[in-house]
Amino acid sequence: MRDPVLEIRGLRVDYGLGDAAVHAVRDVDLTLHRGEVLGLAGESGSGKSTLAYGLTRLLPPPGVISGGEVVYHPVDGPPVDVLSLSPARLRAFRWADTSIVFQGAMNSLNPVHRISTQLLDVIKAHEPRSAAAARLARARDLLRLVGISADRLESYPHQLSGGMRQRVMIAMALALEPQVVIMDEPTTALDVVMQRQILGQLAELRQRLGFAVLFITHDLSLLVEFSDRIAIMYGGRIVEEAPAADLYRRALHPYTDGLLHSFPALRGARRELTGIPGSPPDLRAMPTGCAFHPRCPRAFTPCDTDVPPLGRPADAPGRDVACWLHPVAEPVPR
Ligand code: ATP
Ligand code: SF4
Repeated sequence: MRDPVLEIRGLRVDYGLGDAAVHAVRDVDLTLHRGEVLGLAGESGSGKSTLAYGLTRLLPPPGVISGGEVVYHPVDGPPVDVLSLSPARLRAFRWADTSIVFQGAMNSLNPVHRISTQLLDVIKAHEPRSAAAARLARARDLLRLVGISADRLESYPHQLSGGMRQRVMIAMALALEPQVVIMDEPTTALDVVMQRQILGQLAELRQRLGFAVLFITHDLSLLVEFSDRIAIMYGGRIVEEAPAADLYRRALHPYTDGLLHSFPALRGARRELTGIPGSPPDLRAMPTGCAFHPRCPRAFTPCDTDVPPLGRPADAPGRDVACWLHPVAEPVPR
């Protein structure tokens, strides 16, 4: 097992306070290892973006972190408690150690500035003492790294295709050689061919540069192809986590199985697309017991009363699941 680079322990994120609070992320434990791609999948509203915003402390109000910890392990030096970083150290952490490409990022390029200005601004903000020529050379290298000719530096965003703009955002995210790149639905606005091209390129860059990726999407079939491991989120909790190939071969949680039957597989045998009946839970009025029980085709007696813990089931070592069909021999350590 590789070293951890980011450890999330018992993280809780709420929107609002007191009795009116919506618990969007509930006791999430997740470890990202150095150099791996960890996929995070779940339907809309399951808490994926809230988790990403929470762990980088970018939560918009009324979001609040109500518990847990996030520990970043630098390549050299002691572990860093992200949730208690000072504002200055946090700013550095967000670009230099961990960078983020959010949903619709390609539309967040400033339309009135050339690509060069925007890339150079990022480099200059974090390396103010570097020479202008060195910064320009770095910007050109970064564009080439994501497969865009360096002469495009002088283009405005509207002169680039959607795929190219998204690549520019990835170049910006890699500008300071972070150890962790968080991508929240970075390719959803692109067509399937472009999505796969960009993800293929990202996988290749990851091999070369060694950063780890937390890749968030609702499309499990993409993750199966591009991730090392996959975690599945439902109603604010992680309900299954496994190596990507194992999860694809045999989903343990009925919700994971439903997700696998909701998207056409990009490779391998065809699966019948049956989808998942019903709707995701209303976080303000969560079902008792297992949150998936009102939609679960395999629900049985304890499911509507008792919350299944996430842990290693006796019948599938090396995997984590929260489902009464697979009683846990060993809970996930806290
Ligand atoms: P999507 O794929 O649609 O982005 P997601 O899995 O990333 O969905 P989140 O955006 O993290 O889910 O939202 C999780 C839940 O948090 C939502 O169901 C919503 O009820 C709640 N939520 C999100 N933002 C707010 C907010 N600003 N105020 C109150 N509740 C919010
Ligand atoms: Fe279905 Fe019960 Fe497992 Fe929940 S615990 S997923 S309701 S079988």
